[in-house]
Amino acid sequence: MKQCLLATALLAVVGTAQGHVHGVGQIDVVVDGPRLSLALDMPLDAAVGFERAPKNAGEKAALEKAAKTLNDGAALFAPTPAAGCALRSADVRLPFADGGKGGDDHADIEAVYVFECAAPAALKGFETSLFKHFRRLYRVEIQRIGPNDQGAGRLTPKTPSLAW
Ligand SMILES: [Zn+2]
Repeated sequence: MKQCLLATALLAVVGTAQGHVHGVGQIDVVVDGPRLSLALDMPLDAAVGFERAPKNAGEKAALEKAAKTLNDGAALFAPTPAAGCALRSADVRLPFADGGKGGDDHADIEAVYVFECAAPAALKGFETSLFKHFRRLYRVEIQRIGPNDQGAGRLTPKTPSLAW
């Protein structure tokens, strides 16, 4: 409840239209058989420091750099090595990267990464390098489903890994 009030206060401060808090991302984790899916949602601000169309070459370069980092899912996420997981797809949606203008005050990055694991029984978690690439990001909330249960967690720069 206390946390809820704090979140409400923070949202009021940033005046969000889409309900995000700058610096806080979210990953929905689904383990289904050999497949590990990671659906990342994070404020564009956390990656590049702005949430509108780029105004100059520097901002454009920042967007391109973020896109490159986000598309390299195998470098961003490291599932338990013993599980033998390989990245099968990375679907990254980066606002304004394609020249779109957008309209709201806020913008989110959405990316879905799918890994396929040779030994899924050995899959016990993953580590992320998101915080190393994006210094403005300070927290990632996790919702996880499967394989045997579901749960929630939180990643931070000091604890960038999740175990289940
Ligand atoms: Zn925002």
